[in-house]
Amino acid sequence: MTTNVLGYAAQSATSDLAPLHFERRDPRADDVTIEILYCGVCHSDLHTARNDWGGTIYPVVPGHEIIGRVTAVGAKVTRFKVGDQVGVGCLVDSCRHCPPCEDDEEQYCGHAVYTYSSIDPVDKMVTYGGYSEKIIVSERFVLKIPAGMDLKGAAPLLCAGITTYSPLRHWNVQKGSNVAVTGLGGLGHMGLKLAKAMGANVTLFTRSPGKEEDARRLGADEVVLSSDAAQMKAVRGKFELIIDTVPYVHDLNPYIPTLAVSGTLVLVGFLGPLEDALNTAPLVMQRKAVAGSLIGGLAETQEMLDFCGEHGITADVEMIKMAEINHAYARMLKSDVKYRFVIDMASLKA
Ligand code: NAP
Ligand code: ZN
Repeated sequence: MTTNVLGYAAQSATSDLAPLHFERRDPRADDVTIEILYCGVCHSDLHTARNDWGGTIYPVVPGHEIIGRVTAVGAKVTRFKVGDQVGVGCLVDSCRHCPPCEDDEEQYCGHAVYTYSSIDPVDKMVTYGGYSEKIIVSERFVLKIPAGMDLKGAAPLLCAGITTYSPLRHWNVQKGSNVAVTGLGGLGHMGLKLAKAMGANVTLFTRSPGKEEDARRLGADEVVLSSDAAQMKAVRGKFELIIDTVPYVHDLNPYIPTLAVSGTLVLVGFLGPLEDALNTAPLVMQRKAVAGSLIGGLAETQEMLDFCGEHGITADVEMIKMAEINHAYARMLKSDVKYRFVIDMASLKA
């Protein structure tokens, strides 16, 4: 048995997103059924819709920054009740017993099930994301939204928030740490806010001269234009951590000298092979590292949401109607968004 749901889907790498009726599983005993209120628009949605990384299962309904209201719970659900305001991020399941799952790092499970363009191992059904009217998810992969939090601004926390929070925590950023964020988009603006709230001295690397004022308002103490060699030289040896959110292949070599001894540049964009060879000498000579990081586990995502609740942090969002999604993708490609599009799902049937 399945449930018919309306959403917006891409049928191929070159087609615009358009309305589609598709099937979700009927709820299981541990499932929460969620009416979707808002869904953030992540650059990963665009990468997947256009098959930038290969492997997209079409039709694809993107969307993994989901905020909604619980409309039904299965008999075994204990943490949620009808009417609760909840979130769903990039993961909807995992094997639940491998070492990463046991360490609350489900994102590194070899059998993680992504919110869209994945196959659910139980019923072999394709998963479809949050650009849709409702979603059905095991309660273990559903997050609680802190009371009083603005729900529109909360949506991007489910991906942009956790993807920047997790490396800040993993690399022990604390009061006084020197942290840089590269790229001021959806992830970048959350990185600035979160690093600032952790007490770090925060720098933005940007290729866009017009973003300085916003960056300072969002938490940057310093803004460095990455194309300006003198500005890059002025921050040599400074950063314990750089979080690089740039979505496309770019030369990492200019950033390595700005790391402190033992500093780490962590990539969150899936760049694939680099075009410019990475010079390893400065890594060896100063124990520097280039690393990667993927979203965060469920427990850490809840911790991030609670941290944001305590610190009054949500995303800066631009609300759009569902039918405006193709235009929003075109604008996101031009970095013309301040700083996350969020779809008002009430517009889906309008
Ligand atoms: P976004 O909103 O489009 O922001 C990306 C920013 O990077 C832009 O605002 C721009 O900032 C800079 N940029 C864009 N294109 C560039 C280019 N060609 N060269 C140099 N800089 C460029 O994207 P997002 O949603 O934050 O996502 C960023 C990346 O993270 C995407 O690749 C996405 O797939 C990935 N991601 C990874 C994870 C994970 O778990 N690892 C999770 C979510 C997203 P400036 O104008 O300031 O330079
Ligand atoms: Zn995302």
